[in-house]
Amino acid sequence: MDAGVHVLVFPWPRQGHINPMLHFATALVQAGVQVTFLHTEHNLRRIAQAPPPGLRLLSLPDGLPDDHPRSFLQLMESMCETGSAAYRALLMSLLSEASAPVTCVVADGNMPFAINIAEDLGVPALAFAGNSACSYLALLSVPKLVELGEIAFPADDPVCGVPGMEGFLRRRDLPRGLHCAEQGDGDPMVLKLAEVTARSCNAARALIINTAASMERQALAHIASRTSDVFAVGPLHARSRFAASASLWREDDGCMAWLDGHEDRSVVYVSLGSVAVITHQQFTEFLSGLAATGYAFLWVLRPDMVQTTSSALLREAVAAAKGGKGRVVEWAPQRDVLRHRAVGCFLTHAGWNSTLECAVEGVPMVCWPFFLDQLINSRFVGAVWRTGLDMKDVCDRGVVERTVREVMESDEIRGMAQAMSQQLRLDVMELGTSSSELERLVRFITELRA
Ligand code: UDP
Repeated sequence: MDAGVHVLVFPWPRQGHINPMLHFATALVQAGVQVTFLHTEHNLRRIAQAPPPGLRLLSLPDGLPDDHPRSFLQLMESMCETGSAAYRALLMSLLSEASAPVTCVVADGNMPFAINIAEDLGVPALAFAGNSACSYLALLSVPKLVELGEIAFPADDPVCGVPGMEGFLRRRDLPRGLHCAEQGDGDPMVLKLAEVTARSCNAARALIINTAASMERQALAHIASRTSDVFAVGPLHARSRFAASASLWREDDGCMAWLDGHEDRSVVYVSLGSVAVITHQQFTEFLSGLAATGYAFLWVLRPDMVQTTSSALLREAVAAAKGGKGRVVEWAPQRDVLRHRAVGCFLTHAGWNSTLECAVEGVPMVCWPFFLDQLINSRFVGAVWRTGLDMKDVCDRGVVERTVREVMESDEIRGMAQAMSQQLRLDVMELGTSSSELERLVRFITELRA
């Protein structure tokens, strides 16, 4: 590798965006590239794990006081103002480093400002998408969906405005806040996300996606027609069994010993990721449905996850359910959990990282998508890959019970999940399609310097 190549990797400051970009940065380091990884100061203070060897960490302010809430729109505003000014200053100082100035920026697609500022300063910039190619394509297709009027209910109507997904995508699989965009009243978060995605896609020299061609060939082909170049290099975490970690919550390893005490494939792992907040009623429906299955369950309940209820009360409720068959943790070592022989299925919100982590381990899924891309991911799981079932917008104890039972007991679904796992492991092996794409990307980044 050319010793002069130095990549600045800049994730959107959320757990689901930091993780894949950290795996990406690690893969670059392993390919001999010098990498600097940029956190926000707020996040860097929360991360207990040391960075992977060879990776330099830097941070910048996100513009919000430490105890301030950080919703998507709040972060978007403060990152575009304070964050972008600090980023420009930092990039200028990295450019003047005598030994190894930055030669390329890879920034999360949520931050077109990071791409534009880099290019202003003469540094080529690429966008990184930590979501699925299908949901990325759906975001790029928002103007067309609005034009076709395909965003309003009725929910089961098919969607034709996302190329390559005609035939199985329904209106209820689109991000929820879109449904009233026609009247100028869409969810500002969804509309903002669609806008920044399109802007970064247009501005970037190329797009890097954490997916595999074997999972999303069609969507990738359609994205390729809309941007300069696309590299499908995922699932990045699967490149190494001991991939780097940067958790914003403290992982509770105690659940691994608890899993050791259970039979093979007898436990339901439940996690709705790092952002979803559910109502107390939804919590009760999940708990009752899980308890009724009779299976043991390991449930990740972040302290801030259920509206208006203290976490101690929730733990008690779970412990009391069906003779204490439930175990609660605030944050789990998820990749290790999914790899454990005792886990029989994953009840998940179908965030893209969780979907990929589960797919690589060949664990069947029960999806209860919460928002955004999760609704499309879960449709793929249920209707295209058939590696699980999609509960979609229903949250009812009877549905939870039936769906979990069916997934735990279906040989067909398990077989599909295992076949996908085998394919993904091949994709990230030497000469696999994702590995070849990563090599092509490293060459691309090296040539940008010339
Ligand atoms: N995660 C974890 N422990 C948990 C729950 C989640 O390590 O208890 C990780 C999970 O492995 C994944 C990320 O947090 O890498 C969540 O990302 P995802 O895209 O699935 O969902 P989001 O949090 O963005 O909604």
